[in-house]
Amino acid sequence: VERPVHEAVLGHAAHYGDTPALVDGTNGTTLTYAQLDAGHRRIAAALAASGLRKGDVLALHSPNTIAYPAVFFAATRAGAAVTTVHPLATAEEFAKQLRDSSARWIVTVSPLLETAKRAAGLSGGVTEILVCDSAPGHRSVLDLLACTDPEPQIAVDPREDIAALPYSSGTTGTPKGVMLTHHSIATNMAQLDPFIPMKPGDRVLAVLPFFHIYGLMALVNQPLSHGATVVTLPRFELDQFLRAIQDHRVNALFVAPPIVLALAKHPAVERYDLSSLEYVVSAAAPLDANLAQACADRLGLPPVLQAYGMTELSPGTHVVPLDAPSPPPGTVGKLLPRTELRILSLETPGKDLGVGEAGEIAVRGPQRMKGYLGRPDATAEMIDADGWVHTGDIGRVDADGWLFVVDRVKELIKYKGFQVAPAELEALLLTHEDIADAAVIGVRDEDDNEIPKAYVVRQAHAAHLTEEDVITHVAERVAPYKKVRRVEFVDAVPRAASGKILRRELREREQRQ
Ligand code: ATP
Ligand code: MG
Repeated sequence: VERPVHEAVLGHAAHYGDTPALVDGTNGTTLTYAQLDAGHRRIAAALAASGLRKGDVLALHSPNTIAYPAVFFAATRAGAAVTTVHPLATAEEFAKQLRDSSARWIVTVSPLLETAKRAAGLSGGVTEILVCDSAPGHRSVLDLLACTDPEPQIAVDPREDIAALPYSSGTTGTPKGVMLTHHSIATNMAQLDPFIPMKPGDRVLAVLPFFHIYGLMALVNQPLSHGATVVTLPRFELDQFLRAIQDHRVNALFVAPPIVLALAKHPAVERYDLSSLEYVVSAAAPLDANLAQACADRLGLPPVLQAYGMTELSPGTHVVPLDAPSPPPGTVGKLLPRTELRILSLETPGKDLGVGEAGEIAVRGPQRMKGYLGRPDATAEMIDADGWVHTGDIGRVDADGWLFVVDRVKELIKYKGFQVAPAELEALLLTHEDIADAAVIGVRDEDDNEIPKAYVVRQAHAAHLTEEDVITHVAERVAPYKKVRRVEFVDAVPRAASGKILRRELREREQRQ
């Protein structure tokens, strides 16, 4: 797709006129497509007039708001690459991203302004900080809307120029800056379209963060390129989330497994009218088939659809099509068009595995990143000389081409020569009615064997649940080598904004003890 990303997403925006493009789910403030179209062009003109140049990096530091897409596409229209920042990042974390990405501009919101200023001070390279709303003595994006300059005419080379510079979630190590070109993002939009088509009249709820590539694709690019309406929420708070579905008659949800878990188990769900929902998509982390089914049954919906991908792949490679008659439970989907897949042996490098055999997932396609920013070694480790991306995930494909993700290669627990996938044990733990949430990692026992340890959050009113109960629940359902051998009760499981369990944090905690 040889179009810049702002054209791919907003090229038809004017055509949708007074249709609401974005609605603030907390107060109902609405931005129409006409306003989004005209607004982002004026902001682009103002940014260019203020000195933003092609190739500059602009850091967008904001929770989900109705202004977010306008700022994002204004920046790309002015030729910048947008690095999206976690709104809860500390000033130090933010400064690190600013330095790493060489960002010169920050766009933030007034409640985060102090953090942004500190981060800018620490990083040294930032020349301008703007707020989206208003803050005394600060230039605001609202002022930019008054700009009457003609919109900048920047020549974009879609295959070379970077549109977005999101950072990987940092689940396995330090987050890495991922260079996504206009072409890789626009191509992935086109690849995803036939699988989950969006249309005017669709109302999606945007609670997953826009700064993460999954949120950006599913909740900004896809809906806004098709005239759908996006209802934004700044964070996940269950009652507010359920009320927004009810009040805004949301029909499509794109979420991560923890929200599926809440929808399946939390009593609050009964208090709201969720009858407008038509389908739920889950991605970003392993989702157990039983949990997905429990969620669908409770809401009276067809099975939860899964998708699979990663920041480095813009992000999608597999999706369960909306119209698939009966996808097998637990599958993350079928391969997108123009994408190739291999399942590689973990024992014999370079050996392809067959149907049903689990190995490392490798994919190749035009949605691939250009590389990690400033990290040629990490790039070469992930993308081989033939262009295959080695995902670090383990999966298998059935005879009909459905992919199943087992877990990450790095997180497999090696128990006495056997491999145990923590995700499988976590899924099993969640089937216990007294367990609200769970995470599993490998720890060392007295004899230095690696053994599975479960961190378990009890349901409210389930104080009676013992370690022995937990161990027995799993032992009755798995081969002996997969047994959970240690249990610790905790108040919460550490998770990234995208819903992933931060097993790394649990390992660090284990080491400190
Ligand atoms: P880092 O690369 O910095 O360690 P990360 O891999 O968590 O962080 P992301 O790009 O946000 O960063 O996540 C991609 C990963 O999410 C995939 O490699 C995979 O492990 C996991 N994932 C995505 N979708 C699914 C899914 N449907 N089922 C299971 N795992 C998934
Ligand atoms: Mg990764």
